[in-house]
Amino acid sequence: MKTIYFDNNATTKVAEEVLKEMKPFFCDLYGNPSSMHTFGGQISRKIRNAREQVANLLSCDPAEIIFTSCGTESDNAAIKGTLAAAPKKRKVITTRVEHPAVLSVCRDLENHGYTVIELGVDKKGNLDLDQLEEQIDDDTALVTIMYANNETGVIFPVEKIAELVKSKGTIFHTDAVQAVGKIPLNLSKSNIDLLSLSGHKLHAPKGVGALYVRKGTRLHPFMVGGHQEAGKRAGTENVPGIVGLGKACQLAAKNIKEENERVKYLRDKLENAILRKCPDCILNGDKKNRLPNTANISFKYIEGEAILLMLDKYGICASSGSACTSGSLEPSHVLRAMGVPFTAAHGSIRFSLSRYNTEKEVDYTIEKMPQIVKKLRKLSPFVEKG
Ligand code: PLP
Repeated sequence: MKTIYFDNNATTKVAEEVLKEMKPFFCDLYGNPSSMHTFGGQISRKIRNAREQVANLLSCDPAEIIFTSCGTESDNAAIKGTLAAAPKKRKVITTRVEHPAVLSVCRDLENHGYTVIELGVDKKGNLDLDQLEEQIDDDTALVTIMYANNETGVIFPVEKIAELVKSKGTIFHTDAVQAVGKIPLNLSKSNIDLLSLSGHKLHAPKGVGALYVRKGTRLHPFMVGGHQEAGKRAGTENVPGIVGLGKACQLAAKNIKEENERVKYLRDKLENAILRKCPDCILNGDKKNRLPNTANISFKYIEGEAILLMLDKYGICASSGSACTSGSLEPSHVLRAMGVPFTAAHGSIRFSLSRYNTEKEVDYTIEKMPQIVKKLRKLSPFVEKG
């Protein structure tokens, strides 16, 4: 059975072109880019090239890109590094719907005497910018707000937020792990100070990420050791990963508009058919203002986990809005923050597509979903049987 992969917000397939570009850096070009010899020197040129490719996708200066090991590291480096550079300021503003890579860091800061404000969202997952403005004061060291939500795909007005934060003289970081490679970004015209991205969300391998640090932004290094990455991130570089990330950014930059339209067409076809054919379903998030690849749907009266297991039987991979932690099923903090009722949050499924999905896969899933929902509703204790 062929796998149909609709879980691209969790991770993506490494593009063939990316793998090809990476291969020589394992057994042939394996030198250390910090070495003085020519063998090492040619590797540092490849890293420079990859830095240019990433910068080109974001329209920024290559010197503003620091390679890291993942999105989580980039988020940690941005938040902790900013606070360490401004130790007198003790307030951080974020949102309730961030990924744990940001939210857990912020919540931990509360244990270290920081005041952390978590802004709420409305039913569609959108922020109230007036509330944000009210909260920024002289004690605020950092505002960290994600670009696009990993569960619903909802896109925050990050450029507007960056402008607002700058007007108050505060630093702004955005976790753009789900946005980079999916929607066009242009940092040359932006007031964003720090931006995190992760390779494995855009068809590069796992274990590589990057942090954009706008020129002049004060940031204390999060990893200390050697002089790699201009002293901003110590540790011998993951050369194949960095080369792969560069290539993935080049591929994304080349096709982003066309891919967007194609992926959006497939996502809309899948989503509209499910909402039409399966009764008692609701779309979570803002239908208009979201990533082109993400659909988050709640199926009333059934558990998301049960749907996932049945989809899995047909070779279809998706993900659910609840995570099984310590034996209890916790509904998604994102959906709960949006006011989605407990039971509907439990019955939510996220389909996230990529450029490698086909219409045939979408049609197959459209055929299977109503059967799955009908079958599970028959077993549900919450549905009245006629
Ligand atoms: N931020 C967001 C919005 C994410 O979706 C993820 C991963 O799912 C991360 C951060 C963490 O990225 P990584 O898996 O590269 O650590």
